[in-house]
Amino acid sequence: MKLRAVKGTADRLPADQPRWHHLLDVTSRVLGRAGVQEITPPVFEFAEVFERSVGEAADLVVQKEMYTFDDRGGRRLTLRPEFTAGVLRAYAEHGMHTWPSPVKLWSHGPAFRAENVQRGRYRQFHQVNVEIVGSPAPVADAEAIALFVDVLRALGLRGVRVALGSVGDPEDRARFNAYLRDALEPHAAALTETSRGRLRLNPMRVLDAKDPGDQALVAPLKRPLDFLNPAARGHFDAVAACLDAWGISYAVDPSIVRGLDYYRRTAFEIHAEGIGAQSALGGGGRYDGLVAQLGGPDVPGIGWALGIERVLDALDQAGVARAAAERPQLYLVAMDDEAVVEAAGLARTLRAHARVEHGYTKRAPGKGLRDADRAGAVYAGLLGGRERAAGVVQLKHLASGIERQVPFADLPALLAIEPSPSDPDGFAPTAAATASDAA
Ligand code: AMP
Repeated sequence: MKLRAVKGTADRLPADQPRWHHLLDVTSRVLGRAGVQEITPPVFEFAEVFERSVGEAADLVVQKEMYTFDDRGGRRLTLRPEFTAGVLRAYAEHGMHTWPSPVKLWSHGPAFRAENVQRGRYRQFHQVNVEIVGSPAPVADAEAIALFVDVLRALGLRGVRVALGSVGDPEDRARFNAYLRDALEPHAAALTETSRGRLRLNPMRVLDAKDPGDQALVAPLKRPLDFLNPAARGHFDAVAACLDAWGISYAVDPSIVRGLDYYRRTAFEIHAEGIGAQSALGGGGRYDGLVAQLGGPDVPGIGWALGIERVLDALDQAGVARAAAERPQLYLVAMDDEAVVEAAGLARTLRAHARVEHGYTKRAPGKGLRDADRAGAVYAGLLGGRERAAGVVQLKHLASGIERQVPFADLPALLAIEPSPSDPDGFAPTAAATASDAA
């Protein structure tokens, strides 16, 4: 059998790296300026961490999607399907409730779910995750949503849809679930098997059904927002008022439910057009009670996760230019055998100043220049017997074709020159002249 990557996983090739790094750099800057600190939890945890967090009424679907296995010590472990449970386990374990409150944490990395693979739905995917732990105030909910929007804006993504809802307090959920059971049980036979399972365990999730028949059955029913108690309603209105005050547009979506039991009150999703059926870039909500469920103190919190693959897809669809790899500033060509080691050694020294590459075998000048061009270099530097004798490199600015001899000692100054808008390659005939004049 030909070895291939497992279905639902993908190699991130070199050409794809710059836009990932760019996304993470921008995210780190936006979140860092808001006092959100980075935390890196392990990729796997005791299965119990996730089992406790999803709760008893957890969807069968959620349970089945987890990659759980026994290790050689007989411990039941799970590859994280999401970040929240692990981050809050860490919050409890490290006593973060004694830190200045709220504790704002972000993470990024892979998450794993055994899902049906399609565009935007993979088995190993990647998330950026944010948690704001310790504040019950609506302003924390609004800040969480605003940070999500700010990250997308800083990446250059406009026109996303923010959908805001509330699942209420546990009593509200219980009343809503009871209402749904009463309303849907008489039609249970007409529901899909998935929805029937949800109706039994977590009726609210029937609202997420994709099947048109199921959708038709739930269409006329009331929504979670119709069941809010006055305090939860007040909280919802206060979150909306913050977003209004900050000029963040959103649409109230009475139907939003969250898959996991631990969510309370605020629930939100952010969608983008043009990325297929899986249009959610991310979502989140408030989870008062979850930290306690994971063995910590009873502190409230709110968080969200975004799917990096989906955000990158949305950026492509929106025509936002991809971040490109840094080009080599110089590519050294060895024109005789002796120059091979020399070029590699010179490259090593010059790397203190710029990205420098070199060939590994001797090359005729024409071929060497082609190598430099293929490497995307700004300059090619030719090294052979004559250059060695004179202590110079024959430097060619590839875009303009201009050549000159540059003494070894002048190369660092030349390589350090910043490209300017009028001279995007940092074209340096004058700079080279200046450098050698100065020498
Ligand atoms: P969730 O934790 O299910 O709310 O997911 C948060 C976000 O992660 C989603 O909105 C997606 O952008 C992304 N996501 C979730 N599951 C997957 C998956 N299987 N493949 C790719 N992205 C996903």
